Amino acid sequence: MKVISLKDVKENVKNVVQKANFELNEDVINVIKESMEKEESPEGKAVFDQLLENAEIARKEKLGLCQDTGLAVFFVELGEEIQFKKEDGLESLSQAINEGVREGYKEGYLRKSVVEDPLRRKNTGDNTPAFIHWELVPGDKFKVTFMAKGGGAENMSAIRMLAPAAGQKGIEDFVVETVDSAGPNPCPPIIVGVGIGGNFETSALLAKKALLRRPLGSHHSDPFYADMEKRLLERINKLGIGPQGIGGRITALAVHIEVFPCHIASLPVAVNIQCHSHRLLTFEL
Ligand code: SF4
Repeated sequence: MKVISLKDVKENVKNVVQKANFELNEDVINVIKESMEKEESPEGKAVFDQLLENAEIARKEKLGLCQDTGLAVFFVELGEEIQFKKEDGLESLSQAINEGVREGYKEGYLRKSVVEDPLRRKNTGDNTPAFIHWELVPGDKFKVTFMAKGGGAENMSAIRMLAPAAGQKGIEDFVVETVDSAGPNPCPPIIVGVGIGGNFETSALLAKKALLRRPLGSHHSDPFYADMEKRLLERINKLGIGPQGIGGRITALAVHIEVFPCHIASLPVAVNIQCHSHRLLTFEL
């Protein structure tokens, strides 16, 4: 049985929330550079230049890539053969993760973006609670992926329960329509996570997972869905929204799809939009 210290979990969370907010991963930088080459509008190219310059300044000076440092979203793959050692007053895994968020956001001078009640809207003051999604896995794997999810892009996400007869075309039209009506609001160039199948709540989680399951710009392992990703990216990039919504060829950097079995009478589809400030980081213990 593997034993992991809750203090180590907290320290790692504290580090990743800061590092992810200061540094874009290499795959993200590479896709931004490749997309800049494809952008034909001079204004669009200038936006790409600014994004790269911004990323360089944030990395060097340890400053937030964006003023909106996001909700702290976690996907945790939790092995069934792990025990957690209580330490430093930490009694549970979720407490350790929340404490890491609290300390990391404070230490990194990252904006606190959570209100404790959706209508009365008092800021919790420390960016908690974290939004944690657990996945039990066999063995002793403990893998934590953090994503800083800004409000502007999250607000433009959508879900629809299609009839199965809507098929591939119905799904693709819904995805393109969602991006089109979002316009400049999610800070393009965006990344489009699409969850197909499952039920109402599963499809939303699949769409979010699609943003972080694999390197940016890679394709689905099933050629059928890889083709759908390519087709969707092409259609989205014909919308003309462009970088920061000022017009141009590149509205999206990538489209990633995740799928799951579903009910014979259902075809759920969710679209989770991510902005160009695609901040995520993984650690394993
Ligand atoms: S959508 Fe993204 S880039 Fe735009 S303000 Fe929010 S976090 Fe920043």
